Amino acid sequence: MPKAFGRFHDNLTLRCVCEGCNSFFAEELELFLTRDSVEALLRVRYGLKTASGRHKLCESRLIVKVITPGDWHGARITVERNAAGTALRADPLPQVAFRKHGETDWKWFLEEDIDQPRNWERYRTDTDTKIVGKPDGSVQRLSDKLIKMGIVFKERGPLERVGNEVEAFAEGVLDDIIFRGVAKIAFNFLAHLKGADFVLRPDFDPIREYIRLGNAPRRAPVIVSKFPILHRDDAIYRQTNGHIIVLDWDKAQEGIVCLVSLFNHLTYHVVLCERYSGVWHPLNAGRHFDVENLRISEVRGL
Ligand SMILES: [Zn+2]
Repeated sequence: MPKAFGRFHDNLTLRCVCEGCNSFFAEELELFLTRDSVEALLRVRYGLKTASGRHKLCESRLIVKVITPGDWHGARITVERNAAGTALRADPLPQVAFRKHGETDWKWFLEEDIDQPRNWERYRTDTDTKIVGKPDGSVQRLSDKLIKMGIVFKERGPLERVGNEVEAFAEGVLDDIIFRGVAKIAFNFLAHLKGADFVLRPDFDPIREYIRLGNAPRRAPVIVSKFPILHRDDAIYRQTNGHIIVLDWDKAQEGIVCLVSLFNHLTYHVVLCERYSGVWHPLNAGRHFDVENLRISEVRGL
């Protein structure tokens, strides 16, 4: 389990990964998985994201928006733990909202979108404007920018204050770079259980090429569902907020499949090989990574 998802006692470590692959996994695949996925936000929620995180969440493709009605509705925010680690705190990204007279919807533009005037050309005239940002000068900077770009304002006043809590909606990215990051966790679990020689079999060439080089096999190797892995879990009742990983044969007993769920949220089905050419043997194995006590225990699943 990548450290970004918890520093577990006696984590399952692999000693058969070469230097080159290891740094590729950490710098490429895990970077995206820990920054752009919905699970990136769950890291913050469950206190696993350290303040010294290398990447700013604003570079993330993860979109978190305020959905509380009012002036702030639709504004993009970043979410972090407060210094004491006791609560989540939201900060607005520097951004501008426009609403053309006669229209009902506000359109929000981040600062980098404002730098490209053709994005918002139609809002030059007959438009209401909101400028938001942290109280660190970003509002002034954005307002100067708009004036420089020829916008003429009549200032009406401050936005309404937000209460102590805002409701937010998060929209993560699900694409190959995220899937490869998850497939790597699944494949490494197989390597941990069965050893390097086993996972070097040609049966696993397609998944290894997918993870390492991004060459996708004919059939998508990773699909996502919201069905929980654990028996008796459902949309409301959850036995854990931790990670679950379960390996077994597929239903036809031909291929090898691994289910991965980070924070027991989405379930990723990773097809490690479609048709195993060797002799069938029992393969069922699973682990639960408890994000509260950071212990790993065995689970049976599938
Ligand atoms: Zn390598």
